Amino acid sequence: MKGFYNQILKINLSDKSHQIEPVADELLERYLGGKGLATHLLLKNNPPGVDPMSPGNHLIFITGPVSGTPIWGSCRYGVYTKSPQTGFYAESYSGGTVADYMAKTGFDAVMLYGASDDPCWIEVSDQDVFFHDAGDLWGLDTFETEDRTKSWIKENRPDAKKCGVVCIGPAGENGVSFAVIENDYWRSAGRTGVGAVIGSKNIKAMVFWGSQKKEVANQDLVKKYVKDVAHDAKDDAGVQAYKSKGTPMMVDIMSNVGSFPTHYWHKGEAAHKEKINADALHERLDVTPNACLKCFIACGRLSVVKEGRHKGLKIEGPEYETIYAFGGLCEVDSIEEIAYLNDICDRLGIDTISAGNLAAFAIEAARQGKIDYDIDYGQPDKIAGLLKEMAYRQGIGDILSRGIKAAAKEWDMEDQAIHVKGLEPAGYDPRVLKGMGLAYGSSPRGACHLRATFYKPELSKMIDPDQIEGKAEMFTEWEDRLIIFDTLILCRFYRDLYPWEELATMIKAVTGLDLDRDKMRLIAGNISNATRRFNIREGLTSEDDKLPKRFYKEVLPETQKIITEEEMDRLLKDYYKVRGWDETGVPPATS
Ligand code: SF4
Repeated sequence: MKGFYNQILKINLSDKSHQIEPVADELLERYLGGKGLATHLLLKNNPPGVDPMSPGNHLIFITGPVSGTPIWGSCRYGVYTKSPQTGFYAESYSGGTVADYMAKTGFDAVMLYGASDDPCWIEVSDQDVFFHDAGDLWGLDTFETEDRTKSWIKENRPDAKKCGVVCIGPAGENGVSFAVIENDYWRSAGRTGVGAVIGSKNIKAMVFWGSQKKEVANQDLVKKYVKDVAHDAKDDAGVQAYKSKGTPMMVDIMSNVGSFPTHYWHKGEAAHKEKINADALHERLDVTPNACLKCFIACGRLSVVKEGRHKGLKIEGPEYETIYAFGGLCEVDSIEEIAYLNDICDRLGIDTISAGNLAAFAIEAARQGKIDYDIDYGQPDKIAGLLKEMAYRQGIGDILSRGIKAAAKEWDMEDQAIHVKGLEPAGYDPRVLKGMGLAYGSSPRGACHLRATFYKPELSKMIDPDQIEGKAEMFTEWEDRLIIFDTLILCRFYRDLYPWEELATMIKAVTGLDLDRDKMRLIAGNISNATRRFNIREGLTSEDDKLPKRFYKEVLPETQKIITEEEMDRLLKDYYKVRGWDETGVPPATS
């Protein structure tokens, strides 16, 4: 089918062999590639109940049909596996430049299984697959790993003009359950611990290069489409906001509605918000907007600290979620210090959302005398020390490295831990934005803000955040459209520019398929059912869709808001119904 190479690369790490397998058009028509194809492959290949850190767990890198084309927002790849953080379905996406190089290798997906006996890095190109010894890379941080592998390719592969690298830091090597896979220094497949899975297979990095070019169904239509989208978006307020302020603009937006999680989810606003918001970032750091390939929004902030003890520190970020995790939950009141903690996480290769949540949880544990550890809110150096202990699994870092569920159990704090299925939420309090409660509960990967990005319609008053009745219908339509984003693998921040009709034109131009909204929703529904089946096979029940009890009981002081257990049960019940699942959240046997 156009938009695809119709082949996947399967790499057996145990005997260091590989084979190329064809992918039938019927499968791509059913699932559209991306998340759909990955879920199908996981269901087919992963042994039920497999230990996520064992050789039997498969790890799949995938690009979508739009990857490698000029479509805006298309330079993105997905990683899929069984998560060591949740024990359920794992999906994580990253931007930057790598997806373009992956697309040039001539494969729609690269599937890893087994485990290497010794540390290695893998070179995947359109010419061959090579396993390289990574003994000299083991222990290095993500930046050095990327530099060294890129240099090797430059020196030894005259055919590779450039390459894309994904890699792990020490956290991934050490099996930290929230380790990331990183690329382009600062971009990460950040959630659900995909870095721990690849680390458990002794793979330090993957390098992609090639010169394959995907055929699209209608090159002229693709060109026109790309031109029209850029033209129409020129004065779009959302695009301008992301371009001028980046995701840190959310600090003010969320604080204004009392939904900026602070003091480990005990408050909805930080007293020091002016010190950590987008204005603070742009005043106190030297900031240049930065974009992934094929993007005119440029939400990234290439930031250099101008003054103080971190003068000269350069990162892309901090993003809103990192600011919320360290500036809100841990109450670090300086944007430079948040940038410093962000840099540590990037180098060690850990997810900033989970790391910030766990640090704040440890602060609570220390305050309550549950652990004998010297740390408190607003202490960046102590938090930095704890991040390193997590990555190297030292002291209390060892229990934290196993994730929030393990730490809460060990410290007898299960009633206080904030997570769904073992994944900590992003920076949107569901007591204020109740649709985010449904998002956190229903997402197959745990408390995820991205599967439906439902904060958007709730904040922009497309629907009342307090509304329960009828919310599941709108939520499911948002989720369905974004499932299609994840099959094509598109950046979320193009969501306002790609309503259903635009997606239909894009799909027609790239693949030749004629899909209207109903047909796309059917595909999305099939994918949603498949992910649910994967999770049920791994032991999930509707109890796992519930929110942490604190959200039902503990009122936010600024707004007096709460989400009741009855409200959440109703949202879930309605959601199951709209999805066509039974009352316990089980999808029909075949669909
Ligand atoms: S909007 Fe941001 S994340 Fe999305 S493609 Fe552009 S730079 Fe990358």
